[in-house]
Amino acid sequence: MAASKEITRRNFLEMSTQGAVGLSLMPLIASSCSDANAAKTVNGACCLDCPDSCSWQVTVANNQVTDFKAPAEHPFTAGKLCDKMADYPTDVTYSPHRLLKPLKRIGKKGEGKFEEITWEKAIAEISAQLQTIIKEKGGEAILPFSYGGNEGKVQINAGDNFFMHIGATQLERNICGGAVEAGIMATNGQTTGVLPEDIIHSQYIVLWGTNPVHSNQHLWTIVEKARAKGAKLVVIDPFQSQTALQADWHLQLVPGTDTALALGLIHVILKEKLQDQAYIDQYTTGIEELTKHVEQYAPQAVAKITGLDETDIAQLAREYAKGSPSLIRVLIGLEHQANGASAARAIAMLPALTGAWKPLGGGLMNMTYELFGDALNYQLLDTPEGLKNKNTRKVNMVQLGKALTSKDLNPAIHALFVFNSNPAVTMPNQNSVMKGLEREDLLTVVLEHFLTDTARYADYVFPATTALENWDLFDFLRNALPYFQRTRHRALRAIKTQYGVF
Ligand code: SF4
Repeated sequence: MAASKEITRRNFLEMSTQGAVGLSLMPLIASSCSDANAAKTVNGACCLDCPDSCSWQVTVANNQVTDFKAPAEHPFTAGKLCDKMADYPTDVTYSPHRLLKPLKRIGKKGEGKFEEITWEKAIAEISAQLQTIIKEKGGEAILPFSYGGNEGKVQINAGDNFFMHIGATQLERNICGGAVEAGIMATNGQTTGVLPEDIIHSQYIVLWGTNPVHSNQHLWTIVEKARAKGAKLVVIDPFQSQTALQADWHLQLVPGTDTALALGLIHVILKEKLQDQAYIDQYTTGIEELTKHVEQYAPQAVAKITGLDETDIAQLAREYAKGSPSLIRVLIGLEHQANGASAARAIAMLPALTGAWKPLGGGLMNMTYELFGDALNYQLLDTPEGLKNKNTRKVNMVQLGKALTSKDLNPAIHALFVFNSNPAVTMPNQNSVMKGLEREDLLTVVLEHFLTDTARYADYVFPATTALENWDLFDFLRNALPYFQRTRHRALRAIKTQYGVF
């Protein structure tokens, strides 16, 4: 990836807004033709917040998408996109329901009545209102709200510099993944572990709180191959998922008791001397404290907490410790509880105790994005130094409803910008979110492909580009292949990218 080092921050972001330069810097893009009307095939990546992080290939001729598919040679995507993405051009980019022009509200909030407005007029009107808000209430009266609707590095952070510049309230975007990440970090110091494709080497696979048959389909394909080679599959999940139904063994514990189960497994492993002492001595600290702590987590005690049979707890500990390579896969399922981070922290100790990390296919599998930091020169996308230190207040995205309706917030939120997100249907405490969106004194601006539930409450709606129309960079959360992509077909060039709007 040496070429990426030559990209300056400015020209990389300009690629996003103009979609016009940089082919020589993009080794994954095939651009064999100088005739704009001739067919071009380029590689790209699924923009959705999904563990699979698939690669796709799009062919554009005469400014129209003529083919869209998953490349067979991609080691993880392996020629298959899921149903959500398989028809993306027709379902999203060319959808007759897609928004193509800016809209201004003419009905009541939520009524969905709008009239068309030009980009220039909409931007001028919004700017004037923002200036008044900043002058009278301060920049913190403005709140950006965005999340993983487009996971591209440019689009997901599209508004950061603008909102920093005007001193807006900062949004803490951590509704998902943060708790598990914190738990694993506490044990391992980083979250990268076994790469998804290496599960093929595993012989004892524990899917802990994940349902790959539905939500990690490409990983499931490799799990099936590992099973065909003799691997045993164990699923730990309070829910009888499709994955659990296909497992060799399903342990259906009481929701929220994963920490107790992990500590119970550690208890058995240490009690029965199944640990890899040489590995512990060389690579870990704190075994004495841990041994003392898990004394109280004998299978009998853990059975009462988890609802599992005590013999099953002991058997799982023995099989896991003796299986080699043994692998535990966690994602975000087990974090959605009060002690989610503790569960991940305790689970992450298991491979360190048994030395499961040693053989290929053994250890813990979670994220992979840390692999890309240096290679992809992330700092190109950072907020410039001059803006970084603005110490404005923060609002956690899970408290959007409270932030929009609170009488104590000073200043109150008077302008809300929503992009890459549909908080009316995705945030907790939906009633208070809706109450906030109904406020007549709240300027709401939404960037969207369609008139979503949130967009219906907007004062202004800007059409957003789809993943086929942006330059972007994908590092990918859960496989080890980075992607550059660019497919800005001209038919829709009237739409600005999100970065362009800000
Ligand atoms: S499986 Fe996930 S990453 Fe792959 S195409 Fe579907 S949504 Fe996108």
